[in-house]
Order: sequence, then structure tokens, then C-alpha cells
Amino acid sequence: MNRRNFNKLLVGSAALSLTACTGLSSVSTLPKGKNRVVVVGGGFGGATAAKYLKRFSPETEVVLVEKNTEYYTCPFSNTVIGGLNKIDYIKHDYKTLESKYGIKVIHAMVKKVDGATNTVILESGETIPYTKAVVSPGIDFKYEKGYEKGSEMYAPHAYHAGAQTELLTKQLQSMKDGGTYVMVSPANPFRCPPGPYERISLVANYIKQNKPNSKIIILDQKKKFSKQGLFQEGWEKLYPGLIEWRSVEFGGKVEKIDPKNLVVTTDEEEIKADVINYIPNQKAGQLAFDSGLTQGDWCPVNTKTFESRLVKDVYVIGDASIAAAMPKSGFSANSQAKIAALQISRKLKKLPVVNPPKLANTCYSLVGPGYGISVAAVYEAKEDKVHKVEGSGGLSAANADSSVRMMEAEYAVGWYQNQMADIFK
Ligand SMILES: Cc1cc2nc3c(=O)[nH]c(=O)nc-3n(C[C@H](O)[C@H](O)[C@H](O)COP(=O)(O)OP(=O)(O)OC[C@H]3O[C@@H](n4cnc5c(N)ncnc54)[C@H](O)[C@@H]3O)c2cc1C
Repeated sequence: MNRRNFNKLLVGSAALSLTACTGLSSVSTLPKGKNRVVVVGGGFGGATAAKYLKRFSPETEVVLVEKNTEYYTCPFSNTVIGGLNKIDYIKHDYKTLESKYGIKVIHAMVKKVDGATNTVILESGETIPYTKAVVSPGIDFKYEKGYEKGSEMYAPHAYHAGAQTELLTKQLQSMKDGGTYVMVSPANPFRCPPGPYERISLVANYIKQNKPNSKIIILDQKKKFSKQGLFQEGWEKLYPGLIEWRSVEFGGKVEKIDPKNLVVTTDEEEIKADVINYIPNQKAGQLAFDSGLTQGDWCPVNTKTFESRLVKDVYVIGDASIAAAMPKSGFSANSQAKIAALQISRKLKKLPVVNPPKLANTCYSLVGPGYGISVAAVYEAKEDKVHKVEGSGGLSAANADSSVRMMEAEYAVGWYQNQMADIFK
């Protein structure tokens, strides 16, 4: 943090000073008696929550604290790895949230959300008091089986988009023709269940054109995966013989990895790879643990409001929350954010919480350029959990003709552009 850029924030009568390197925002004095909601994490969940809080409750001061000045989306990051788009395609910033909606954006690392004092504590030690807080820190990784902090520089996960996306793209491009690309796909639950398989599809598309003598092995830590039939149908059609998928039961189980030497040891053999895309097992973002919001690996919430079941006045949304039957997806995080924003704005106005509107999720995946598939469902958030609405949604049809796959690929782009406009514009 650069001290020359620090601003002073005086909060209510308590003279609490926040000296944050805002870059984008000048943090001002808060008038007495005003409500403040601090949103931590400016991804799919957090950025949506900040914007919709301002919409539902314009008089509330909304502060968004995000460690990065740019946000690279995981959605469509696989198209970057597969060479279909450049990294800028998935890059977004917070300028419009600030200039158009009046959200105070602070770029700083949050150490802890402290429910005992209703303050957000930054790494620098400075604090931001809140009336309510929203936490959407996404995921962190489990370090096990020889994969440790720093291993991602050798065997990238590319499950946080940005630098990791670029690293994996470079590794793929530098791989020799005749090389072996190994992906380790995580156990459930994890961010974006179809994500690894869309990635493999687009890696296969790249390899088929540029390094046709290479092979791809997926070592899956599960018995089956999302949209499996549709993916495998597409692989047969577009990349016959190129992708070998091994389930955890039949040769996929990883015992150990040596990221520096690019060796993966399964329960059956040792594989020397040329590229290892190791996607570790996952848990809620570290901030959730440091803030006492977790039970096991994830954060329990009342899904009617998304308020934490462990810490009052703190709402957890997105991948970090326990919101099954919804998958951990950007679309889910975006929908959950709107429910949290709605209920918080009602609470601030001393109105009772309402039964939230239905939630929706569609996950599109590209099996190749112009070849899209999807899974969709509608959900109802009740206090105990999120329920799937019986009979809603479904999968793309099997064996559909190419015009249907083409249309779904176009819908995927439309979905992405709409989400980005809804969140950042
Ligand atoms: C390859 C891939 C493809 C995907 N494709 C799709 C798709 O097509 N459709 C879809 O709906 N979803 C998709 N997803 C899933 C989607 O990316 C996530 O579900 C979504 O990003 C979750 O949103 P979030 O707000 O929980 O977390 P994130 O979007 O990860 O946001 C978390 C933010 O919090 C910030 N942060 C964390 N800790 C701190 C801290 N201590 N201090 C300050 N800031 C902090 C981070 O910098 C980050 O910006 C995909 C994921 C992957 C990996």
C-alpha cells in the first residue's frame, strides 16, 4: 500500500481512520447515522451485490473492498487457454461501479471481517466499520499429495483467472508436438463443475490443429462429471481418440504429484507429463476461515437471506457459501448476490425479509468453436437450503444436429456479455 495515496475516513462520531490506497476512489467522511454496507471481494458475487445494494438502497453507503484493480473472469478463460480469445477478452475493472453507481471501491487485502466489532480489518491494520457486511471471497485450494503453495507456478491450476490463465496458455503453446498434457480434475464440490471438461475440449481443439501427435489424459478424482454424456459425444465427434478420461475408480486416482519434475503418480503408474494442469481440491476463500465463517470447508448460510449462520450481520455469497443444490458458478453467485442485496436493503429499512424470487443457473460450455452445450435449472431459496424446482431446466439434447450446437455456442457468448453488463456496467 502506497502511503501517499492514503485517504482519511472518519466514521460517524468514532474517529476511525481508514487510510487505503484506493486508486479509483476517494474515500470520504461518512455523515452521522448513515448505514454502511462493506462488500468484500469484487468477483461475480461481490461486484453484483455492491451494484444491487446501491440500486435497492441508494441512501446506503456501499464500500467494495477488492485486492485487485482488474478482475479476470474464469468464464471464457478456457477460450484464452485454447487460443480462441486474448486475455483482454476476460478482463474487467471497477471504474463504472464507482463513477456510475457511487460505490466506494477500495483496493486492499482484507485480513478479517470481525463480527465481534462489526469491522472489516485490512492487512494494513486499518479498519472499516459496517452496519452489514457481504463476503464473496471465492475459493482457495487444498495443498496435499505434494502440491503445495507455489506449485501452481509449475503445474498451474488456472482456476483463478489472470496470471494463471496466461501461464497455462504459454505452457500449452510451448509444449512439444508429441507431448502429454495431463489434467487432474478435483473431487466434489468445486467451482464450476463443467469447467475442467470445457477446458480439456478447447485444449484438444488447439492440440488437434497445432500439435496433432500429442495426447491428453484426464485424471479425475470423481467417478463421473457434469454433462459427461454430452462432452464425450462431442469429443468423439471432434477429437476422436485424443482425450483419455480416467475416473478415480479406474486409474485416475492421484497419489502424489511432483510439480517441478512434472510427474504424477496414480494408484496404477507414474506419468511423466509435458504440461500438468493440476486443479486442486477446493475450499472457501481463506478470508472466510479467518473470519470464523466456515464449518468444514464452506460457509453455512440461511439461504433465504444468505446471512451467515455463524456470524450476525455478515452475508456470505458465491462459491464460498453452502448453497447446494445450486452449483458453484458465476451465475449462481450473481443470483445469490441479488437476494442478499434485497434482504439487506429491507433490513436496513426495518422491513421484514421476503420470500426471495426464484434463482436460475445455466452453465454453458464450449466443446469446440461453434459447438456449445448447457445445463440449466431453476431454484427456490428457503431457510434450510436451496431447492431445485422439480421439473425445471435440463440438459442440451444428446445427438442434436450441428445447428443446435452452433446456437448454444452463440447463447454462451450472449450469456457472458449479459453477465458482464449486469455486474460491471
Ligand atoms: C475455468 C472456469 C470456467 C468457468 N465458467 C463458468 C461459466 O461459464 N459460467 C458460470 O456461471 N461460472 C463459471 N465459472 C465459475 C465462476 O468463475 C465462479 O463460480 C465465480 O467466480 C464465483 O464468484 P465469487 O464471487 O464467489 O468468487 P470470485 O469471482 O472468485 O471473486 C472473489 C473475489 O474476492 C477477492 N478476494 C478474495 N479474498 C480477498 C481478500 N482477503 N481481500 C480482498 N479481496 C479478496 C478476489 O480477488 C476475487 O476478485 C467458471 C470457473 C472456472 C474456473
